[in-house]
Parts: sequence; structure tokens; C-alpha cells
Amino acid sequence: MIPVFDGHNDFLQRVVAGGTDIWLKGDGTGHLDLPRARAGGLVGGFFAIWIPAPQGPNDAAAAALMENPPFAMPLPDEIPFAQALPHAFAQATALKALERTGTLDIVTSASGLRRAVAAGRIAAIMHMEGAEAIPDMDALHLWHAAGLRSLGPVWSRPTAYGHGVPFAFPSLPDTGNGLTGSGRALVRECNSLRIMLDVSHLNEAGFNDVASLSDAPLVASHSCVHAISESSRNLTDRQLRTIADSQGLVGLNFASSFLRADGRRLPLEGFDTMLRHLDHLLDILGEDGVALGSDFDGALMPRDLPDAAALPALIGAMEAHGYGSTLIRKIASENWIGVLKRTWGE
Ligand code: ZN
Repeated sequence: MIPVFDGHNDFLQRVVAGGTDIWLKGDGTGHLDLPRARAGGLVGGFFAIWIPAPQGPNDAAAAALMENPPFAMPLPDEIPFAQALPHAFAQATALKALERTGTLDIVTSASGLRRAVAAGRIAAIMHMEGAEAIPDMDALHLWHAAGLRSLGPVWSRPTAYGHGVPFAFPSLPDTGNGLTGSGRALVRECNSLRIMLDVSHLNEAGFNDVASLSDAPLVASHSCVHAISESSRNLTDRQLRTIADSQGLVGLNFASSFLRADGRRLPLEGFDTMLRHLDHLLDILGEDGVALGSDFDGALMPRDLPDAAALPALIGAMEAHGYGSTLIRKIASENWIGVLKRTWGE
């Protein structure tokens, strides 16, 4: 089985709600758990800490709106630090609890990642999707000490550091202001700590700011191609070329609404559209710049890729599309390991 390393999941919220049995045995819901990871060849990935919104694009009314583009969701309100911190602690603690089951390592280096995989444990990277729980640079250092190695300055809501891109279709990602002064300081501090910066939810101005400030490869952990699906969350060809110039990487998001050319939040059918996105990413980023970023437990999956156990079907579709085994192994896991080495050092 081809090993898969994945750029993004929102699984930790389910562990907070349901405990480690959700991981060890599954509960028949969602997209990810240990049995399904094993069945699909998933060897590791980025486990996101994400602060749930009191209201936002995940609620039912918003989901219904997103079934019928055009739509333009307003940006959710900023969440204050005091409100965010308990959620971030609970999700980080949930990841630590998964590690104590002996089935998963929280990895902080490329060599540690390889060791975990070789030992048959899931290699988990602690990622934070939106920096609401980081009030200052002292806190960033403490989170780093706790294992944080990847950070998106914003989810699709404003933070002290910048402005997220709202969910809209059709829309360019150029929706507002870029990083704040604190956001610029955050980028520099992440560079010095070698915390990977994720541009996936930034608007275009914020993306440009990270691109001009950061000395690390640019990484969009879970994003798709704007030239195919005109979602505000997807990357324009200009952005893709900027990522390519930095020796960076894009992880293809499996979210149906970001893949579909019509932008509808309905399950994508078949693999042809995903392969079009991958072909386009490969054209611009080359064979070393394309990877996977599922968004398991955070998005509406394609019909034929309903959960982690179905990953071999995607691999099979790549084979049928004519990708060779070397390229497939790069996309499936090796490119993630490569960009982490370039970002973290060994
Ligand atoms: Zn996301």
C-alpha cells in the first residue's frame, strides 16, 4: 500500500468530544480514526487545533447557502484570546492523549517523522489553524515547547495577526487587508523557531505579506486551484507560481466545494476533477511541490473518497490517470517530508 501523509485534518475536536476511543475504535462517524487510517495507508498528518466559532460557515444555514452559489459568507467575528485558549488547550491535550495510547507520535522533526512511520505509529504534527490562542511571542515560544510546529496566522476570521479569506463563490482571494504589525512579527518569530507557516486561509494581501517576509518555503496545507474552481479559498496561478518560486508546496484539499467547478457544497462524484486540480498544480509547482491536504473531519468529502479508508481509491485513480509510482509516492507522502525538512531542518 502506498503510504499517505496528509496536510490537514480537524479530527481533534472529535477527540475532545468523545475521548481516545474515537481514535482507537472509531464511532462510525466522521472521516478519520486509527482503523480507517490503517486501512487507507495513512501514516501521518497535520492535526489542527481550531477554535470553534459560536456561529459560522459550519452551521446548517450556511451550509445550505453554500449549496447554491453565488454566495459570499461574511467573515465570522474575531474570537478573543480568553475565549479561544480553553479550546486550544483541550485540543492540544487531546493530541497528547492520543500519543499516550502508543499508536501516535507528536513529531517535531523530519527524522522523528520518519522514525514514527518506521515504528508503525501515526506521525502527527501539531498545527494551529488560526492564532487566536497565541496572544504574544512568549506564548508562541511556549506552544513551540509544547510541540507546535505549524501555524496558520488566521482561519477564515480576523485575528490580531491578519485577515482570513471569507468563504465566497465565485470570488478572488483578494478580499481585504494583509498582515498586521503583530502578524509581521509573528512571521519573523515563526521563521526563527522554524515553525512552518501555513497560508491556506489567508487572503491574497496576507499571502503576499508572508511571501515577502518569510525565509521558509511557502506552504498551503489544504488548498485547491482557483483556475478550476473560483472559490475565494483557492489559489490563483500567480499565487501558485509564488509558492513554486519559494520551493514550497500545496496540499490538495478534498473539500467538494473547493474542487467542484460549480462551487456547490455537494459531494463531488468520481476522481476526474481532483485529477484536473492535481495536473494543474503539477504544471506550475512541479513534481516536488504537490501533496495532499484532506481536510478530513472539516469538510464535505467527495462521494468516492468518503473517509481515510478510501485513500487507496485516490491512489488508484492517479495510477489510472498515468502518474508513475515515483510521482505518486511523492504526492502521497514524500513531498510533505521534503518541505518539512526544508522548513524545520533535520
Ligand atoms: Zn481549513
